[in-house]
Parts: sequence; structure tokens; C-alpha cells
Amino acid sequence: MNGHELLAHTLKTLGVTHVYSLSGGSIRQTLPACSQVGIRPIGVRHQQAAVLMAAAHNYRSGRLTAVAIVSAGPAVTNAATGILVARDNCWPVIVLAGTFPLSSSKINRPGTFQALEGVRVFQSMTKWSAEIPAPSKIGECLAHGYQVALSEQPGPVYLEIPEDVLEGTAPFNLSPFPQSELPVKKASAQIADASKILLEAQRPAVIMGKGLRWSEPYEELRSLIETNNIPFITSPMGRGFLPDDHPLCFNVARDALQHEADVVLVLGARLNWTFRFGRQLAQDATVIHIDIAQEELVDNRPGSIGIRGDVKQVLREFLGYLEEQQPEAKKSLNREKWLERLGHSRHTQTLILEKKINHSGLPMSPHRLMKEIREFLPRHAICVLDGRDTMAAAQEVLLSYEPASRFTAGTNGCMGIGIPFGIGAKISSPDSMVIVVTGDMAFGISAMEMETAVRHKIPIIVIVVNNDGGCATSVQRNLYPADHEPVAMFQPKIPYEKIMEACGGYAASVDLPEQVQPALRRAVESGLPACLNVYVDPHAPFQNYVG
Ligand code: ADP
Repeated sequence: MNGHELLAHTLKTLGVTHVYSLSGGSIRQTLPACSQVGIRPIGVRHQQAAVLMAAAHNYRSGRLTAVAIVSAGPAVTNAATGILVARDNCWPVIVLAGTFPLSSSKINRPGTFQALEGVRVFQSMTKWSAEIPAPSKIGECLAHGYQVALSEQPGPVYLEIPEDVLEGTAPFNLSPFPQSELPVKKASAQIADASKILLEAQRPAVIMGKGLRWSEPYEELRSLIETNNIPFITSPMGRGFLPDDHPLCFNVARDALQHEADVVLVLGARLNWTFRFGRQLAQDATVIHIDIAQEELVDNRPGSIGIRGDVKQVLREFLGYLEEQQPEAKKSLNREKWLERLGHSRHTQTLILEKKINHSGLPMSPHRLMKEIREFLPRHAICVLDGRDTMAAAQEVLLSYEPASRFTAGTNGCMGIGIPFGIGAKISSPDSMVIVVTGDMAFGISAMEMETAVRHKIPIIVIVVNNDGGCATSVQRNLYPADHEPVAMFQPKIPYEKIMEACGGYAASVDLPEQVQPALRRAVESGLPACLNVYVDPHAPFQNYVG
């Protein structure tokens, strides 16, 4: 087989179902080779979007079923932001680059077409960055890359395939690939201690995050929370692993929970900026942190317990100990007062939110828009939120009920993820409604991917929350003289839906709250990718993003 065919057959054997790519250069023949073996190639408009789509696809499927393929030089640097997002979100993805120089030794020769030392560029951004040196190594390198991307803390892998390797030939000899189990790290003594501390806590709490995706400890999680009556909050993308309307979910009262909990169990999340580096927790609270990666374990709090291991395996052991310690410790499970206190805070915050979402003034407020969207969405909908103010308002109002059904700008706050994440999620879960709620600034970064959605018949619904550039209005007004040309603001009232119309999708423009749900209904009925351009108040108060 030639290199293209070897690559396609290897990906197929590894269980890859989709490749995201902008065709061109030396990879032109790789995509048809993938199609030949039953892998669906998705042709995108920008390499950044290709990686974002593949990464979101994998997060949604909970496995490594999608890869991105890019060509050389600028195509590779275009992919860099996607790779950074995958790294910071701890998502597995493989990015393959078909490079032009006939051999890597010529890479630095001045004037070489689309030359880049990609392997070196991505060494600091990936779990593994390497060149595939020969056609006979394609299978081995890809299989290793697959394992590296998924093992321990998931993350991106970059593999470069020079054109002469793609054009060369070798026999295909990769045997069926065993799906590797996550490693079990035994830390029984620590787990026993931690379970005792949790059981004896007066005000225990759980913080959960998107790292729960990979070993899917959903049953264990539910059992831990419900049997022991423990309130929980989530990270932005940790929403839905247990439903937002679960009686023990206190996201709305997250400040009270963090300030007052005496023992906090952190699962699949990091106490990074999202959680203000743990500064919102009580100073003397004991943190029990379970993480697959040693270097992520909380180490800046006296008395905290870090347990390295797969969260599902550790939780199972944890539950075993908790069970053993009952019933004599059962008394301490009486957490009425703690839950009452949190319930009170949740009630107060809910009333404040109700007031915001029922705002009836015009132009429509972002919160009012979110209320209309919330009322329309079915329970199994996947929500992708992009843009600063938009994401903040949507996070407050829209609810998630299923694992991996909430996407946001993620750990590094990358704007422009909305449409690519939406497409990756929809392709991975064609039966779920996927709605992308994006600010107009973030929309501009990936808007052309609406054409990808139309061409490949991927009926996502994109809602552009159009406030002439987000918090830009206040930035423009406060930081520039009144007569300064607009820098932070965009042209007012841009009819963004026309881009979707021009591409062949469903398009509508919306001004009034009562138009939102009928427009959404028509969008769904059209069966097409849709774009609703919703004009909201450009002077709505600036939102602090709270997760
Ligand atoms: P969030 O943004 O939701 O808080 P992060 O991406 O910051 O989540 O953190 C996810 C954490 O989950 C990472 O530190 C990662 O190492 C960890 N993780 C990933 N897979 C597993 C697993 N199987 N078991 C335990 N921890 C995991």
C-alpha cells in the first residue's frame, strides 16, 4: 500500500470514524483513501476548526474516534490553536500533517515551500510530537500516538508525515488494536483515610469537571452523591454528568458552597482559574483531589489529600469503604442543616436570576434571550456556548442534563470554538439537537464553518447574540475618545444570518423575545443548518464569567 492507504487502513483499525481536514498539498490523496475504507472525511474551511471539531467529536464520543489532517507550513500553524485547546482541555486528538519537503533534512533549506519545524513547534504543546520516518512505520507510529493521546491524562499528539513517506509503499501489517483500559493506581490507604474524612464531614461537597468524561464513572458518582447526601457544583463543562436539576446540584449557590464546605472532593476537575485556584474555599477546608495526573493534584493546601488514579476505579474503592463504615457513621450523614443553608442560598440566587431572565425591556437583554432558548430546548440538547458575555449569560440560564452535553470556551477561554465544537458534537451525536449560542465577536472567528455544516448536511442551530461586538460597546466608549473611529466595536446591526443564507442554510433575524421560539421551531423544521441572528441590547450590563 502507499502511505495514504496505510494511514487510512491504520486509522480504520484504530477505530477512527471521521477525519476533519482542509484538503490540499500532499494530503490531497489521503482523504479519498480514508473515504475508501469507510472513514468519513469532513472538509472544513480552516485548519483550526478541523482540530477543534475532531477534539469536540472525541469529547462527545468519549473515545478517540476523530482525527484532524492538515497539510504543511501555514496549514500546520493554523492548527496550533486547536492543539492548544485540546491540550488545555485535556482532550485526546491526533493531528496529522502531510509536510512538503522530500525529507526532514531539507526542512531548513531557505526557500523550501511551506517548510516548518512542526515537530519542534509542538513539542511543548502536545503529549507527543514526532515525524513518521518511513511508510513501514506509519502503523506503529499511529498506534503509539493513539495510545499516548488517550492514556493517563488525555491530550493531543502531533505526527508529521513527509510527502516521500506518503508516496512510498510498505505492507500493511497492523494487527487489530486492543482498546487499552485506563490504569488502576492502587492507593488504598489514602482512599480509606479520605473516605473516613468525607463521611465525618459536617459540610461535605463535591466539585466535578470534564475529566469525568473518559472513564465515565456516572453510576459511581450518583451513588456517592445520593447515598451520602452530598451537595455538588460543577466546572463550566462539568455540567450534566449529573443533571442540573438534581436536588443536590448547587451550581446556583456555588459561592456559598465553596465558602462554607469543610471537606471538598474534587473529581475530574482542577482547582485552576476556573475555581479561582481554590481561593473561594474555606481556608481550613480539607480538599480530597482525585486525578489521573500526579502533577495536577492539589498541593497548595495543608491537609489536602491527593489520590492519583482513574476516577472510576478510585470512586469504586471509595464507595466500598464508605459502605463498610456504615451504619455506625450513618448519623453524620444527617446533613439537613448544611443542605438547608445551601437551599436557602440557591433560592435567593434563583429569585435574582428570575428577575433578570424576565426582563421585558427592549432591546432584548441577553438573559431574556437565554430564557426563550431554555424554554425551547429538549432535555437531550447539546449546548455549545462561545463568547464572553454570551457565555456568561447562557451558563447562568441554560441547563444540562446529560454527560458531555455542555461545551464552553473551556480551560483556556478560546473564542471561536462555537461552530466547530457544534459541528464535531453533532456529527458524533446526530440524534441530539445541537445549539451553538455565540457572541458576535466569537462568531466572526469561525463563521465560514457554517458552509461546512451546509455542505455536509449537519443541522446545527447557530444563534448569534448580536450586540455589535460584545462588551466592546463599553470598551469603545470608556477607553477611546468619543470621536475615535470604532476599534473595539463592530458595524452596528450586521445581518450575520445572510452568511448562512448565502451558503444554503436556514436563516432568520430576530428582534423580539416572542419571535425567538417560533424562529427556533422553524429552524428545526427546516432540517437544515440554521443561523438566527438575534439583536440584543448592546448596553446590557457587563457580565462576570462565573462558570
Ligand atoms: P474542568 O475544566 O472541568 O475543571 P479540567 O480539564 O481542568 O476540568 O480538569 C480535568 C482533569 O481531569 C485533569 O486534571 C485530568 O488529568 C483529569 N482526568 C482526566 N481523565 C481522568 C481519569 N480517567 N481519572 C481521573 N482524572 C482524570
